[in-house]
Parts: sequence; C-alpha cells; structure tokens
Amino acid sequence: MTHQKKAEQLLHQQYHCSQALFGAFAEDFGVDLKTAFKISTCFGGGMRQGSVCGCITASLMVLGMAMGFYDSQDKELEVYGNKKTTEFINRFTEKMSGKIKCRDILGKDISKPEEVVDIRKDGLIMQKCPHAISISIEILEEMLEGYLKDITETSINLEDIPHDDEMMLMLKNMRRLRRFRRNVNDLLFSARNPVGIIQFDVRKFKLVNDLYGEKFGDEVLYFIRRKLKEICSKEQYYINVRSDVFMVVMEYEKEEELVKFIQNLDVRINSFKNVKLQMSYGVYIVEDREMELRQMEDRASMARRAAKDSILTNILFYKEKFKERLYTRKFIEENMQAAINERQFMMYLQPKYSIAKNEIIGAEALVRWRHPERGMIYPDQFIPIIEENGFVKKVDYYIWAEACCFIKKCEASGVMPCPISVNVSRIHLKDNEYIEVLSDMIESNGISKTLLELEITETADDLQISRKALKLKEEGFTLLMDDFGSGYSSLNVLLETPFDVIKLDRKFMENMMVSNKGRLILEQVVLMASKLELGILAEGVETKEQVELLRSIGCDQVQGFYYAKPMPEGEFFELLKKQQAE
Ligand code: C2E
Ligand code: CA
Ligand code: CA
Repeated sequence: MTHQKKAEQLLHQQYHCSQALFGAFAEDFGVDLKTAFKISTCFGGGMRQGSVCGCITASLMVLGMAMGFYDSQDKELEVYGNKKTTEFINRFTEKMSGKIKCRDILGKDISKPEEVVDIRKDGLIMQKCPHAISISIEILEEMLEGYLKDITETSINLEDIPHDDEMMLMLKNMRRLRRFRRNVNDLLFSARNPVGIIQFDVRKFKLVNDLYGEKFGDEVLYFIRRKLKEICSKEQYYINVRSDVFMVVMEYEKEEELVKFIQNLDVRINSFKNVKLQMSYGVYIVEDREMELRQMEDRASMARRAAKDSILTNILFYKEKFKERLYTRKFIEENMQAAINERQFMMYLQPKYSIAKNEIIGAEALVRWRHPERGMIYPDQFIPIIEENGFVKKVDYYIWAEACCFIKKCEASGVMPCPISVNVSRIHLKDNEYIEVLSDMIESNGISKTLLELEITETADDLQISRKALKLKEEGFTLLMDDFGSGYSSLNVLLETPFDVIKLDRKFMENMMVSNKGRLILEQVVLMASKLELGILAEGVETKEQVELLRSIGCDQVQGFYYAKPMPEGEFFELLKKQQAE
C-alpha cells in the first residue's frame, strides 16, 4: 500500500493528521502502528497548542527515523539532519502558501475544548487535513529518495522482500544497517575484550554475475547470509552492507580466534553449487573506541581491498595492509634500477581497431615488469609509486625507445607500421627534457613523427598541460587525451589544448550499458568531438553490445578486450603482418 493510501485510511479511522502521517511510514522503520500512534501523540504538543500543523511534527519524525539523525553524538549527521529539517519546512511552507498553522488550516483552535467539539461535529479533519498530508508525503518521498541516492551503504537483494517496491526495500536495508550500527556501538561501549571488524566480499563477483547470471549472483549472496546466520552467535553482528560486501563485528580474546572464525566462515562459503567462491577479508582491530564507527568500517574496507590485491593471502589486517604497502614500495625502490639494467621491463602492445573496417589502425604501448622471482607485475602496482619518486621518467623513456624500435623493425622487415601511442606521465610535463628525448629518439631511429603518438592523461592541472601540449604540438606530435571523462576538467582542457584525439575512459563504456543517461552523455561527447574536428576512440570495449552501440552513435575507433588484450610485441607484429597479407 502506498503511503498516501495508508494515511488516507488512518484518517478515515478518525486518527488525526500526525498519527495518520507517521503511521503511514511506521512499517518503514519497523515500528508497529500502536507504537507509532503513541510516539506521534506524545510529540503532537505543538499541534495541540494550535500552532504548527501536525504534519510538520510527524514529517520531521519520519525524516529523523528514516535518515537516522537521532544520534546527537554524530556531528556530521546532526548537521545533515538540520539541513534536511529546514529543507522540509521550507518546501512545505511554500506548497501550503505560508498556511502552516493548525488553526489556520482547520479554521478552529484545537487547544480549546469547545472548538474541538466543532471539529468533530463538522468532520473538519477529513475535509481540511488531507491536502497537507498529501503534500507532506509527496515531499517526504522525494527527500527520502534523494537521501537513498546520497548514501552508498544501501544493499539490495535481501531475502523475503518483495522486489516490486524498491523504495521499501531500500528503507528496510537502511533500517538494517542502522540497527547493526546501533548494536555495534553498544558492543563497543560495553565489551571488555578487544573488538574486531571484519569486512569481506566475493572476489570477481561481477564476473560471477556475468558468467552465471544475476539470479545466481543473488543466490550466492543469500547463501552467504545463511552461512553467517549459522555461525554467528547473538553477540556477533553481521550485515550485508551492499551488493557483495559483508561485515561481521565481534568481541574476541586472542587474535587467533578472529582468524579461526574467518577460516571457518571461508570453508563454509568456499563453494556454492560447485562454483568456487573466493573471498577477500579485511580486519580492523578497534584501538580507539571513541573513533566514529564509519571510520572503523573504512579501515576494515581498506584492508579488504588490499587483501584483494595481495598475491600471498586473502586475509589482511589493517595494520598489515600498511606494512604490505611499505614492503611493496621498498621492493620496487630496491629493484627498479636493476629492472632497467636487466631489461625486465617489457613493452606490450594493445591493438586499436576500426569498427567499420574491422582492422587494426594502431596500438598502445603498455609497460609490463617481468620480475625473475615475483613474476609479472602490472603497471597499476608500480606506476603510482615510481611516479612519486620520479623514476617513471626512466621507464617511459625505455618504453618510448621500445616503441620506436618496433616501428623501425616493421619497416626493416617490410611490414607497414601503424601508429603506436605511448603514455606520457604527468611528471614529464614539469620541464621540457622529454621533448628533446622524444625528438632525439625519432631522429636517431629515422622514423616519421606521425607514427609515434602521445597519450596524456587529463588532470585537474589543466593549464600546465595546455602550455606543454602546445609545445608538443608545435613539434608536430599527435596528441591523445587519455582517460577523458575520468577527471574534473575535461571540457576546459579540450578548449584550451590542441588535442587530436580523445580517448574515452572505460567508465563511459560501463555507464552507457547500464543507463540511458550514460548513453546520452556518450552520444553528446561523440557529437561534440566531431564538431570540434577531433578524433575519438573508445577504451575498455569489452562486449559486442558496446561495439554495436558505438557504431550506432558514430564512434569508429576502439580499443579493448573485445578485440584484443595487450600482447607481447612479437605477437602484435605477427597480427599486423597477417592483416597486411590478407
Ligand atoms: P591506460 O593508459 O588507461 O591504459 C589502458 C589500460 O586499460 C591498460 O591497463 C589496458 O590493459 C586496460 N584495458 C584495455 N582494454 C581493456 C578492457 O576492455 N577492459 C579492461 N577492464 N581493461 C582494459 P594496464 O596495461 O594495466 O595499464 C594501466 C595503466 O598504467 C595505464 O592506463 C597507464 O595509465 C599506466 N601505464 C601503462 N603503461 C605505462 C607506461 O609505459 N608509462 C606510463 N607513464 N604509464 C603507463
Ligand atoms: Ca593510455
Ligand atoms: Ca586510458
């Protein structure tokens, strides 16, 4: 039943406005009707004094309950709560054209017994109040929906909830999360032993969904919730925070207990219907109980994400996460120079395709680090670190040189080379050294400038890019704006910098498949690029549907797993050769 219907029904049963309104939302917060009436009657004082309309009091209670700003210890929530309260009152006042006093709406003063008799006799509540109630509900629903969009902690796929009422579903999840947080706060307040916060998720859950379907994915989550229910005691709180992310909070005496608990859980959810499930667990051990719970959750979450990246273990403690990061950094710093000297860095090439011609039109050079003991290390693991210490310059020079060599090699063996784009780290843009290096490389290898293209990532620091890029442009290089749409200032940079091609960030591909809005934005960007006479290339194209969509909106150049993954240069050479032989 909708909130409007429920409120109407209650009004017909002779309840007054604040009871009807608050009662209509009662179920959303897990409050039974009787309690709802009690609460709203207690707080109906303002209305009984004949001053503000009872709808205001009840609505503010609804907001408070739904958004959880009952905790005055939580300053952030309090500020948020005040803002929402003001917003409600302003909107209500406006819609009621300033008529917000009970006595103005009813035309009678309910603080006077003789007038109350009139109200009853004439059925004034049924006549005059529905309008205010319906306005309140309308505003409340909008505000709650906005709030649901604001928060990220909502989860979906909870059992036993009808899926047709999304709003109700989200409210229920919010309620669950709030109840969970309240329990955890109580535990933190009273526990004599240390408390641990475990957060975990399913590795590659998206892949599970893609491979076996979303229904199967839902079943997996339900299965995990059931297992949690089985093994958690009454004092061990668990929740499905959102999609595949779960949390357990528990008291323990020795750290081994925590690890044992996790191992036990892990064995139980190890596989579902013969599909192997891998989990990543992050643990935060509460040190300072005064800290905000959200912050503790963040720490557990950081540890979880670090566990995901770890090759050694799937359980990481928050503290160790930092240790691990320190070790990684140390490892990289100690080994990077040797990696250059011993030629452990390798250039991989990822082809770029034309959809219409269905052939290779270029490639991007991507670095790989093949360490003799550690195996393959991917750029996301080491580029950020060597960007900080400046070593990325050397790695870039190395890869640029490899790209030039490759082009020369093609020419020497009678294969027509295609343009190769290389990544230019932002670090280079601080001075002009790299322009000289590039020009030297081009000259000494005797290759055409048009064959070596430069990818520069858009950043917030757009002015600097623009100035430097102008210089590159004067030198005659082709410039690609990398990761367009992932940063802040894409449009400004576009206006100020003479880029030749825009590389659309992977996020565009993801968004366009899930929402119509995403698709529309993409379409406009493609249109804009063509008006500005810029080339446009879509990155991260993974599916046939994406290819079809891109084709239909006039984006022809693509790069992504759908066509080919990055490959060793030898393999790419063969591919190119084969294409030219056809
Ligand atoms: P990027 O420049 O945006 O490179 C594209 C990344 O997307 C590559 O990751 C590529 O393997 C990946 N990719 C390509 N197609 C798909 C797809 O369909 N789906 C998905 N999910 N991913 C796809 P990679 O090679 O791991 O490189 C990561 C980042 O590291 C690069 O992002 C770039 O920022 C940086 N990087 C790589 N090589 C170099 C280099 O030689 N120098 C510098 N400075 N940075 C580099
Ligand atoms: Ca790139
Ligand atoms: Ca990119």
